[in-house]
Amino acid sequence: MAKNLHGPGQLHVPRRQYDCSRLLFTKAGPENSRSCAAFVATDKRLLPRGRHVSICFDDFPKSAVTEALPALTRRGWKATWYAAGGMMGTDHHIHGRMFDAGDLQRLKREKHDIGCHTFSHMDCAPASDEAVLRDLGRNHAFFRKHHLPRAKSFAFPYGRLDVSAKRLLMRRMPALRGVRPGVHNDAADLGLLKATGIEDHNGGTALALDQLASMKGDRDWLIIFTHDIADNPSRWGCTPRAFEQLLDAIEASGADVVPVSGMLERMKRAR
Ligand SMILES: [Zn+2]
Repeated sequence: MAKNLHGPGQLHVPRRQYDCSRLLFTKAGPENSRSCAAFVATDKRLLPRGRHVSICFDDFPKSAVTEALPALTRRGWKATWYAAGGMMGTDHHIHGRMFDAGDLQRLKREKHDIGCHTFSHMDCAPASDEAVLRDLGRNHAFFRKHHLPRAKSFAFPYGRLDVSAKRLLMRRMPALRGVRPGVHNDAADLGLLKATGIEDHNGGTALALDQLASMKGDRDWLIIFTHDIADNPSRWGCTPRAFEQLLDAIEASGADVVPVSGMLERMKRAR
């Protein structure tokens, strides 16, 4: 999957062709054309026909379970929950109470998709390869301890990564997700999936609603993510009302709501 990362044909790609500005960090110093070319190494896959939405919760706060899960269940929808094992049972300074072991078992029982978000909510950009691998191993062990299926996808904490972390993780996880917003059309890059944040300080659901309305194509996939769901949400969460309105809009759009792992399966069969 990652064998073309430093392919000779990719070393001198003009930077202006790629928007690496938010997402590329190098441990050695400033970005350069070589690292940027490596960064754009992709694992593009054809999307299944139709319009698809995946709903994700990162970290994830307890309020996402108590507020969002019933709203999803009423519609028969499953989400992807990116768990950082080290956050379990903690009180987070931004998101408040985080998930507990009972929440994980409930999500497993109800056949939701539980993804990997590192163990310590690690910023993978400055971390050494060894540190990233060690932390990934800790989260895998955490999943085993809680009898969870092996995670099918990985979301970079803070959306931050560098070339070597991307390369390492592309070899170890079926799909990687960032925080760059956008709709996938026709194909999706499993090396760095786009995802649109539902962030109270950043327009809330407005961008996701616009993107949902823009999905007219034959093969479309919109991934959205948020954190806490509360009447007074953090900057990175939203209110129960805004979330419900978003779900209403998704339902009205007729798009299929499929967790990330389900989309990976559908992509395997796409023709
Ligand atoms: Zn996170």
